[in-house]
Amino acid sequence: MPDDTTGGAKARLFDAVERRRDRLTDLSRRIWEEPEVALRETESARRLREALREEGFEVETGVGGMETAFVARYGEGDPTVATMGEFDALPGMSQTATAERDPREPGAPGHGCGHNLFGVGSLGGALAVRDAIERGDCGGTVVYFGTPAEEAGGGKVYMVRDGAFDGVDAVVSWHPGWYNAPGKGSCLAVDAYEVAFEGETSHAAAAPEAGRSALDGVHLLNTGIEFMREHVPEAARIHYVVSEGGGAANVVPAAATTECLVRAPDRAQVERIGGWVRDIAEGAALMSRTDVEVTKTSAMYGVLPNHALADRIRANMDQVHRAGGISLSDDQREFSADLRASLGDVSLGRLPAEYHDEVRNRAMYTEPLDAPDEGTTGSYSTDSGDVSWTVPLGRFTAATWPVGTPAHSWQAVAAGRDLGTEGALFAAKTIAATLYDLLVDGELRTAARAEFDDRTGERGYDCGLPADANPYELVSR
Ligand SMILES: [Zn+2]
Repeated sequence: MPDDTTGGAKARLFDAVERRRDRLTDLSRRIWEEPEVALRETESARRLREALREEGFEVETGVGGMETAFVARYGEGDPTVATMGEFDALPGMSQTATAERDPREPGAPGHGCGHNLFGVGSLGGALAVRDAIERGDCGGTVVYFGTPAEEAGGGKVYMVRDGAFDGVDAVVSWHPGWYNAPGKGSCLAVDAYEVAFEGETSHAAAAPEAGRSALDGVHLLNTGIEFMREHVPEAARIHYVVSEGGGAANVVPAAATTECLVRAPDRAQVERIGGWVRDIAEGAALMSRTDVEVTKTSAMYGVLPNHALADRIRANMDQVHRAGGISLSDDQREFSADLRASLGDVSLGRLPAEYHDEVRNRAMYTEPLDAPDEGTTGSYSTDSGDVSWTVPLGRFTAATWPVGTPAHSWQAVAAGRDLGTEGALFAAKTIAATLYDLLVDGELRTAARAEFDDRTGERGYDCGLPADANPYELVSR
């Protein structure tokens, strides 16, 4: 679509974000200052919901059986386009907004993944599109999905299972990071299992023959998994912890539990490997003369990329960049250099080698880049995967942190209070421009849908969660 027909509308979208700059940055800071972990994000979700209600959105809460999940809509009829906001924090990640390791409150949660910025950046995008609809620049409906518990096993999967994304034409979402680029890569599907053995206690020295050790079951299971590991696809990842292993060495343990994660590029592979783990568990129970119960506690799809949406996101990033992009104050610049110095020699990940010299010597890298992950499958999992199998999903990263900052680091928390808000506003404008394009450009919607249909093929989406899975039980595990 040529710029001259939409240029004025895009400029008005960017202005709509700028007009709300103070409210958005203030809201992000408040969520940062009161970090709440998965499914306890009561205040964070309330603040976001109220901001949407104040601007005329209709808000439905309690979606997917989670009190902190919500869906907010503005406008009427089709097309229907959407964005998503996360807002949960990480346990134990408390940190001040300074360039040295310094917890605000030792042991307390902190926004180590920048989800305060994530939720508010997406909010800014949805509010700008709301203005465009009200003004008559475009028709249709804009939706904001408030998606809790990303860090604890996947609130979005429960929302997808509940049909919350049905009838949506496309979703555009983002994540804080250290560069501006669309995503064209995939990631691993995952299933989580709790394997609980039950035996008989007895005195481990005086009457071992009367006991049956649940811990033996756990050892045999984990040993079996190690032998299986050689014979699964190379990209698979299997990891476990012993979450319960008995209480005293002189008592044969009657209860012992392994928690196990199985990941692979394809859901069918994950399910095959999971079936093998179940068989090993049965074998371990036979060998140790114990009983075993295997419970699937979480299941996610890998992300399906959508190049049609990624390319439009990239073009819009250029427009946002030309309109001022991420411009840092002197204080922000100084702080980013101090934080960058604290990281030392960093990994530049998948960034193409030709950028390395230029990027390595910068504190912040704010020019838009092409997707660095095209054709790759990252060794991580996200609950956005299930969304991407339900509706065309465009994803991108915006630069909220200094170059090379790993997510879940104290530097990411420190950057999230004041430095990262510029990247969140950049994300808001990119989301607004891309959702606007989706509302006015039928060819883009058709291309995104055709690519989605092509990638999902005949397989379709079949939620991997057990029918009786309850998000609150998941999170307490
Ligand atoms: Zn995250």
